[in-house]
Amino acid sequence: MFSASEASQMHLELVLIPVRLLLVCSLQIQFADQKQEFNKRPSKIGRRSLSRSISQSSTDSYSSAASYTDSSDDETSPRDKQQKNSKGNGDFCIKNIKQADFGRREIEIAEQEMPALMALRKRAQGEKPLAGAKVVGCTHITAQTAVLMETLSALGAQCRWAACNIYSTQNEVAAALAEGGFSVFAWKGESEDDFWWCIDRCVNVEGWQPNMILDDGGDLTHWIYKKYPNMFKKIKGIVEESVTGVHRLYQLSKAGKLCVPAMNVNDSVTKQKFDNLYCCRESILDGLKRTTDVMFGGKQVVVCGYGEVGKGCCAALKAMGSIVYVTEIDPICALQACMDGFRLVKLNEVIRQVDIVITCTGNKNVVMREHLDRMKNGCIVCNMGHSNTEIDVASLRTPELTWERVRSQVDHVIWPDGKRIVLLAEGRLLNLSCSTVPTFVLSITATTQALALIELYNAPEGRYKQDVYLLPKKMDEYVASLHLPTFDAHLTELSDEQAKYLGLNKNGPFKPNYYR
Ligand code: NAD
Repeated sequence: MFSASEASQMHLELVLIPVRLLLVCSLQIQFADQKQEFNKRPSKIGRRSLSRSISQSSTDSYSSAASYTDSSDDETSPRDKQQKNSKGNGDFCIKNIKQADFGRREIEIAEQEMPALMALRKRAQGEKPLAGAKVVGCTHITAQTAVLMETLSALGAQCRWAACNIYSTQNEVAAALAEGGFSVFAWKGESEDDFWWCIDRCVNVEGWQPNMILDDGGDLTHWIYKKYPNMFKKIKGIVEESVTGVHRLYQLSKAGKLCVPAMNVNDSVTKQKFDNLYCCRESILDGLKRTTDVMFGGKQVVVCGYGEVGKGCCAALKAMGSIVYVTEIDPICALQACMDGFRLVKLNEVIRQVDIVITCTGNKNVVMREHLDRMKNGCIVCNMGHSNTEIDVASLRTPELTWERVRSQVDHVIWPDGKRIVLLAEGRLLNLSCSTVPTFVLSITATTQALALIELYNAPEGRYKQDVYLLPKKMDEYVASLHLPTFDAHLTELSDEQAKYLGLNKNGPFKPNYYR
């Protein structure tokens, strides 16, 4: 992704940490030569599907462990409702403010597993490193995000938030945030139009202009570029979480259109090695089980892409006794798959025999109609990548195929000869749409996001240019160290002699920036 020769030295200061850490070596990253265009954003679900998805999820109690179902929920669009919190504030748009108490309990549970954010809150008492920051965010709206937002607020920031995915919002959590005074615009089962409307409500507001962006997927950044380019005059930086959003930033930068500094959180070691890998390892089985009740032992599964997400999915499925095939385009990841004991195949070679197909490439058009036509009866098809571009779901919306919604987020697509495939979450990322994800892992990413925001917001003029930066290794190490006490882990300290021998500072960084 980047070359060491392109590394540029720069100092980075973490204002939050009591002993001010001088962090060195942020890497400017080589642009990935992606074919994806910034403007080609993933399409979201249309209005027609909206009523179906809302009605299904409102009657379904297993679709997400944390999803609240209130019998008083109706199908009225939140956009048509007038709601206020107990303090009379109505600057939000969510499903149902009455779910706030339940959402608060969800947030409190998440806090237990997010030790680093809670530690940041404690350390920030008296010191408000984000005082004056106006953060506009577009991420999954879950209990874990709520802990992040409340931490940012405790550090002094004002926040307005929309969802980066139309299915992943926990309505009760959105309600608790709205009750707590946050301007949240999100609900589970938004239409495409709702999705952009919610983003617009976050940025297009009188008397409030964001000066920081926290994005997951790049849609918010894209919207501001498209609709309100002048806003960038006041924006101090963008923090982007996902592979997809980071690719978009590189493209902007390559085209000379990136007009503020951006932090690539995705490629920080603590994000990539923990969120992408462990999060998916722990949630892929959950997502499949909740939606289909499938047994994994002996099942033949093909996983497309053996990056961090693919590795996590493969490891979980292998441990359950599945027979796992992998497809890859990159010979290095392909060789890793082989040496981890997986059969490397082309999709065409196994598509007729597999029971489950999982995409996790971050690419587009990986599973096409020709593959879907050849799958066997009952084959489960799902995606773990960020966007719904990996499976060509649109090609299934043709007159000869019948769609049957059998459960929330589960469609049977039936061919004229009776063959049916089981499509999960309409090709959107399975774990965030249909299961829960481990809070502790998200804590690591959320802490990285918070520190990146603090750094960009407080950086003196000129420290960061209009480019994409990696978080320095020192900051990654700090995030990891904040999570170690949970495990009662005892870290070995370098002796002076050892530090000298290795040419390291005893306090880190312990590895070069290019070390993965
Ligand atoms: P990665 O770049 O490490 O891995 C993707 C792999 O797919 C690469 O090895 C690449 O060579 C391979 N690939 C690309 N096109 C391919 C094709 N046509 N066929 C087969 N292989 C192909 O990225 P990652 O960290 O594994 O993330 C993958 C996707 O998952 C991204 O969209 C990311 O945003 C998303 N993601 C999802 C979750 C989640 O919780 N579901 C978590 C983190 C990231």
